Amino acid sequence: MKLLIVEDESKTGDYLRQGLMEAGFAVDLARTGLDGHHLAMTGSHELIVLDVMLPDIDGWHIVKALRDAGNRVPVLFLTARDCVEDRVKGLELGADDYLIKPFAFSELLARVRTLLRRGSAPVLADRLQVADLALDLLRRRATRSGKRINLTQKEFALLELLVRRQGEVLPRSLIASLVWDMNFDSDTNVIDVAIRRLRAKIDDDFEPKLIYTVRGMGYTLEAPGVG
Ligand code: CA
Repeated sequence: MKLLIVEDESKTGDYLRQGLMEAGFAVDLARTGLDGHHLAMTGSHELIVLDVMLPDIDGWHIVKALRDAGNRVPVLFLTARDCVEDRVKGLELGADDYLIKPFAFSELLARVRTLLRRGSAPVLADRLQVADLALDLLRRRATRSGKRINLTQKEFALLELLVRRQGEVLPRSLIASLVWDMNFDSDTNVIDVAIRRLRAKIDDDFEPKLIYTVRGMGYTLEAPGVG
């Protein structure tokens, strides 16, 4: 099963190629948009991992060219954080899913496998739900029981992480690196404060409670009766 990676940052490209090869895939790596466009249009790939920001032809042109040509190969695109317009545009142009950089390789691999299982049917990965908590990923909005909850960008990112990894205990160090891009030896009190604020918004006025502290280990989000 052959995948195509289009990524101009050489370290990221090498890292993705190696990881996917170790996971058992054959991999073509294009380091420019032009190469990526050419390989995407002429090769036979089961899936394309497509960086959006490329110096010559950007990722959007490649997705559009594929779809205009009737090619429905699944496309997972990689986008910078906080670019809502990018995500909306990508999905509208016919990409199937996206990941926000930086991401964990395990997350990318999980998305790749999901897309390959689903084949070429389009998937709108724009919503996450746990109990009555819903996250609109494109508009970065959260609701509980249909009631809008105002969150800062960081709070939303933190909540998204907890929901995506629900049932897993997330150490403060992991939360710090994924949501704040900082190392554990930074001021981790930031995490506790942020969790407290998030809980006040998400859990104080609602049942069931979803966010839990696991003493000495970290935090987890869990719906009762699940997991
Ligand atoms: Ca790039």
